[in-house]
Amino acid sequence: MAASFLLCCGSCWLHERADYVFVGSSSAFTAKDGGGLSGVIQQALIAGGGIGGLAAALAASRAGWDVRLFEQAPAFGEVGAGIQLGPNVVRVLHGWGLQDDLARIAAFPHRLQVRDAVTGDELGVLPLGQRALQKYGAPYATIHRADLHGLLLQAVQARDHVRLNLNSAVASFADSEQAVTLQTSDGLEVQGDALIGADGLWSRVREQLLADGPPRVTGHLAYRALLPQASLPERLRSQQVTAWLGPNLHVVQYPVRGGEWLNVVAIVHGQLDGDLQSWDHVSNATDLQAALLHTAWPLRELVQAVADCGGEAGAGWGLWALCDRPPMRGAQQQAQGRVALLGDAAHPMRPYLAQGAGMAIEDAAELGSALAQAQDQAVEVPALLQRYAQRRWQRNAQVQARSLRNGQIFHASGPLRWARDASLRLLGEKLLDLPWLYGKTPTGF
Ligand SMILES: Cc1cc2nc3c(=O)[nH]c(=O)nc-3n(C[C@H](O)[C@H](O)[C@H](O)COP(=O)(O)OP(=O)(O)OC[C@H]3O[C@@H](n4cnc5c(N)ncnc54)[C@H](O)[C@@H]3O)c2cc1C
Repeated sequence: MAASFLLCCGSCWLHERADYVFVGSSSAFTAKDGGGLSGVIQQALIAGGGIGGLAAALAASRAGWDVRLFEQAPAFGEVGAGIQLGPNVVRVLHGWGLQDDLARIAAFPHRLQVRDAVTGDELGVLPLGQRALQKYGAPYATIHRADLHGLLLQAVQARDHVRLNLNSAVASFADSEQAVTLQTSDGLEVQGDALIGADGLWSRVREQLLADGPPRVTGHLAYRALLPQASLPERLRSQQVTAWLGPNLHVVQYPVRGGEWLNVVAIVHGQLDGDLQSWDHVSNATDLQAALLHTAWPLRELVQAVADCGGEAGAGWGLWALCDRPPMRGAQQQAQGRVALLGDAAHPMRPYLAQGAGMAIEDAAELGSALAQAQDQAVEVPALLQRYAQRRWQRNAQVQARSLRNGQIFHASGPLRWARDASLRLLGEKLLDLPWLYGKTPTGF
């Protein structure tokens, strides 16, 4: 089987136009070469160059596959916002040899504190830092999204047999017994052995594979800002994760960029007029100020600081309408034939467990371990992708479901809020620690 793929994939590159943008280390491999790569058996096509797509490219390349990634944007990049990475995710990054680079650019908060957004009272604390390291073998990290994306991009670019194509929007694919063919919106056709749809929430690959309609609009809005800590009064600077819980809202703040910047994300209920696919609605946040009117002074002061300082590069608040999908119901939603989905394309979730990108990275690690088996055994590619899907879908479904439930608990009012606060006061650390999440490891990690 492997030999026939080799022949097939060597010649099918001739279908391509050679004018794609090439970024990568293996500049000897251009479309004009039209030839196979000695020693490389299988070719993975990846749609999307976000955190999930780059992680998949790295994992597939480490598994010995030839990788071609197609990103619709004219340049690689990420939005200006932070991201939390649980020990389960950091362990994967360490496994890929990115430990030192990560240590240089991330922050490692020493604890997670939960506070009542209305009274300002502390409700519970989970020690992170050394405790996470000892218990889970990796720290809890917080990082600027662009820094994480840049870290993965650099790691991918350092590998041979990876080609990154910009300005290349994947429009459709055709899956057959012998190969999968991808078409881009400007008419390029490329064949490979597997197609990984890592093209995000509004995935084109998912649309064709599952035809299950667009994601659902949650009715929750996320306001995000980044502030230089040096611009803040001493009392607002922080090196911990703080989650403020209030009726119909919550706010999370944590350090990024080695602790020099503070990321703030505020979630409120509401609708957004405009393009749901845009991540860059700049808002003056008067509705956010209104939603926070009856919250504790330190929280309102923090929100006011964004207006005063203007956030990163004076950008103020970015505003996103949050969308998700119901938890996955089976492996067929993650892979069919030679096509697999990964990250938000497969399981977009509410960000209330801070694990969306984490699950994309775990997906990539599991994909890599499945693809690695193509080197030793005569296993068919669809079977490898099924193995990947079988190992991932239940975990992804569980994280989606818990994210949904967390939102209800975070935003509770009335008796549920009272019960939440009482439980957190009594059992804070026990409730906030998540061994089922932080302790689980993709195959091989
Ligand atoms: C407010 C908020 C807070 C969050 N906080 C956290 C957190 O703390 N921790 C965490 O782990 N996760 C968090 N997440 C979730 C995380 O941001 C996402 O799960 C993650 O970015 C998904 O990555 P992805 O690569 O799957 O998708 P994306 O980041 O959406 O990347 C998809 C890529 O595909 C490209 N693309 C799209 N269509 C095509 C096409 N047809 N052809 C080619 N390319 C295409 C896009 O341009 C993009 O580059 C948060 C999300 C939100 C909204």
